Amino acid sequence: MLLDIVNYGDPVLRQKGERVEQITPEITQLIDDMLETMHEAHGIGLAAQQVGKALQLTMVDVTDVEDRPSRMSIDGEAVKPEDYMPLILLNPEWTVVGDTKEEAPEGCLSFPEVYGNINRHEEIDVMAMDEKGEAVAFRCGGLLARAIQHEWDHLQGILFIDRMDAITRAELKPEINAIQVETTKGLGNQR
Ligand SMILES: [Zn+2]
Repeated sequence: MLLDIVNYGDPVLRQKGERVEQITPEITQLIDDMLETMHEAHGIGLAAQQVGKALQLTMVDVTDVEDRPSRMSIDGEAVKPEDYMPLILLNPEWTVVGDTKEEAPEGCLSFPEVYGNINRHEEIDVMAMDEKGEAVAFRCGGLLARAIQHEWDHLQGILFIDRMDAITRAELKPEINAIQVETTKGLGNQR
């Protein structure tokens, strides 16, 4: 089932997600619905907050992005990222590998048509639980590492506009404000 994607201005995007301790039928259904919603929207990542649920649950799929490479390794062995997509991450944590940072453009399904450069760590180690409730650990770099950092932020209630430098954010302010006004109007109509 397709879910509605929540836009900037909805307070759920600022909520820290609760940990998911068990893969219940409800969680499995939510994961299926979020995957369908993410693919339909041509997103490479989606967090539970973006469908109105403040949970530590997110997913990424970088399969179709050909111009921005991703790397992945498990236990020191390089693997093909596409073999692991979509990646479902529950209660994810990550640590920085090395000290390389990279600035590159990002968008977000909760900010239609807004794109800005964000500085992120180029390589990270990730630990999480997967959709079967099993522990997963891997190292990743490039676009995949960027997407996971963006999604992890969502799970804490942090948005990519918070990570923009002041000039970028000022340039995008009219578009960001317009989304917020539109969302607030919609929330008012529901009451
Ligand atoms: Zn996002």
